[in-house]
Amino acid sequence: ETPEKSFLEQKELMGYRLINKIGEGAFSKVFRAIPAKNSSNEFLSKNYKAVAIKVIKKADLSSINGDHHKKDKGKDSTKTSSRDQVLKEVALHKTVSAGCSQIVAFIDFQETDSYYYIIQELLTGGEIFGEIVRLTYFSEDLSKHVIKQLALAVKHMHSLGVVHRDIKPENLLFEPIEFTPSVKPKFRKSDDPQTKADEGIFTPEIGGGGIGIVKLADFGLSKQIFSKNTKTPCGTVGYTAPEVVKDEHYSMKVDMWGIGCVLYTMLCGFPPFYDEKIDTLTEKISRGEYTFLKPWWDEISAGAKNAVAKLLELEPSKRYDIDQFLNDPWLNSFDCLPKKGE
Ligand code: ADP
Ligand code: MG
Repeated sequence: ETPEKSFLEQKELMGYRLINKIGEGAFSKVFRAIPAKNSSNEFLSKNYKAVAIKVIKKADLSSINGDHHKKDKGKDSTKTSSRDQVLKEVALHKTVSAGCSQIVAFIDFQETDSYYYIIQELLTGGEIFGEIVRLTYFSEDLSKHVIKQLALAVKHMHSLGVVHRDIKPENLLFEPIEFTPSVKPKFRKSDDPQTKADEGIFTPEIGGGGIGIVKLADFGLSKQIFSKNTKTPCGTVGYTAPEVVKDEHYSMKVDMWGIGCVLYTMLCGFPPFYDEKIDTLTEKISRGEYTFLKPWWDEISAGAKNAVAKLLELEPSKRYDIDQFLNDPWLNSFDCLPKKGE
């Protein structure tokens, strides 16, 4: 019997029926689910035809965290427990998703003896990662359409003093739309449209423009850095050393680096840093060693390259912050956000 089957048959989850698995991460499986008809929460079944439920098996988490060795959870236990970590993810998700349409909406949280369930809005298109694989790479307009929405999500999070810390195409989800003339990708000279269409990789009619609204997901690694209004690091009252304050400020820049990696990958179809050997990869990243590789980058505009370069700037203090990126001339040279109410 597969673990999926046992998930689907579980009876403890209140008010929802798990239908099928739609994704998974290191310690979670995500299912499409339907709010039960006789759900006590009528608002829910009225507003959501289906939801996404992130199921985390407690046993999987505690085996890596060594929770069961912590019977003597005394004063010197510096490591937070798995439960605390999940509750933190839930609390941050709840906080950041309120009032931001570019962040996957948090709906509910449940816990049983064996599982945690994080119930959230379903994005039926799945991961942006899958679209990059399907289309090979995105046009500049389509890249802009996606990255602008990611930037709005990050803007909201950073204004609340929260850093995401795990921005990547797998954690970017979308709702498909039939046709977006404004984001129709253009073929590059180096490509043969007919061959690509024949291979079914690229459909010129829909232009790969099937991406509507884009939302940021997965708050498992998110962290609250600053308290909401004071711009001071959390849990302190003004005795923080300057290097700590600086460090915390720089931590927002890790999300900007993540945005840069996503943008680079969408534009050319491969990531800025790659090596099969993890040591070599780490070296390349720490030196900020990437190139606009020929011939793939030849036809990409100077404006796009400039935006990528400002995001993949090695020195955090020189790297774009979220407001600078939102004001980037290339990003603003074309307004391709979906219209209100979409
Ligand atoms: P993890 O923390 O284990 O990476 P995620 O929250 O990223 O878990 O979810 C894993 C995968 O499940 C995602 O990459 C995505 O494919 C899918 N998924 C997660 N949430 C949703 C959602 N709200 N709608 C649609 N798919 C989702
Ligand atoms: Mg994830």
